[in-house]
Amino acid sequence: MECYFDNAATTKVRAEVLEAMLPYFQENYGNPSSIYKISQKTKKAVETAREQVAKAINAPAANEIYFTAGGSESDNWALKGIADSYSSKGKHIITTAIEHHAILHTCEYLETKGYEVTYLPVDEYGLVSAEQVKEAIRPDTILVSVMFANNEIGTIEPIAEIGAVCREAGVLFHTDAVQAVAHVPVDVQAMNIDLLSMSGHKFYGPKGIGAMYIRKGIKIPSFIHGGAQERKRRAGTENVPGIVGIGKAIELASAELETEMPRLIALRTKLINGILEKIPYARLNGHPDLRLPGNVNISFEFIEGESILLLLDMNDIYASSGSACTSGSLDPSHVLLAIGLPHEKAHGSLRLTMGHFTKEEEVDFVLEKLPPIVERLREMSPLYEQIKNKK
Ligand SMILES: *Cc1c(COP(=O)(O)O)cnc(C)c1O
Repeated sequence: MECYFDNAATTKVRAEVLEAMLPYFQENYGNPSSIYKISQKTKKAVETAREQVAKAINAPAANEIYFTAGGSESDNWALKGIADSYSSKGKHIITTAIEHHAILHTCEYLETKGYEVTYLPVDEYGLVSAEQVKEAIRPDTILVSVMFANNEIGTIEPIAEIGAVCREAGVLFHTDAVQAVAHVPVDVQAMNIDLLSMSGHKFYGPKGIGAMYIRKGIKIPSFIHGGAQERKRRAGTENVPGIVGIGKAIELASAELETEMPRLIALRTKLINGILEKIPYARLNGHPDLRLPGNVNISFEFIEGESILLLLDMNDIYASSGSACTSGSLDPSHVLLAIGLPHEKAHGSLRLTMGHFTKEEEVDFVLEKLPPIVERLREMSPLYEQIKNKK
């Protein structure tokens, strides 16, 4: 049995999504900017997708949605764009220590351009509070960027409270909602969100397509200069099949939230409890309840996450030891260090992320295969031997 437990890294495109996209490769290939009939169809398809995206996050109007090439591009645009257009007001940005690298590395870049960035620490669960944000806001603060939900430990941040604090202080609020959109309820109006990033391939849409919500009235320079596409803010002939795909994917997933969330939470509970019952010296990372429905992240003492991954792979179980971007490097995850894990525990962590295609048998299969893998690896650890002998 092939078990894909890495839905936080990317997801499989749903059949309905692929089916919706296919006509836009060969039948309806017209450039949406042209005026003849085949282009009318593509233009209409792009606008339908924009409405589907707007509806899913309760954006007041579809023209506040801009299509981009993915989550990283949306994050770059939000930060660099706002930094640029509001620099006369100030050069201070607030974010958190546990953001995705698309945010953190963009902040580091902005620091080289004279901006000052406050990286708010998080508590042991990975939570940042609205109070912390409030205290960090200064007269020269132009932007607060706090992720909606963390991609490694799954913690869901108090976005509505943070949005309220920012709105009251008159500071723009961006959220990287790549892990949250179409997985948990997101409402840009109720949560006072000014800019929001999302990505199609994190919710069963295609890769290389994303979107950004930019509230009406916000000044932001074009991310790509050229033609008049995306209201002149992001030039280039539209990725029509991708746009149709992200629209269909967000519509499907949003409509199923009410049944899919409890289904995944039940699987998550089973997986977490099963692992903690069967395996000693293991702990759950992230918040027990304020977490993404499909996210499980566990640290195992005395062993390396990478070795667990290799042995899981031999059993056709695909998981991750942190974020896909950092695998290949031996640095422990910045998120696990930020929640206070010592280096050795951060190294021994495993992320299992479930989604639309995950079945209960797969959870059972992981619960059967994982304990002996951990035991086998621990038997090679001198430290574990010492602890066992003491007992
Ligand atoms: C995956 C991810 C991104 C990057 O999105 P891409 O579409 O792969 O560029 C950004 N932020 C978070 C939280 C993510 O999980």
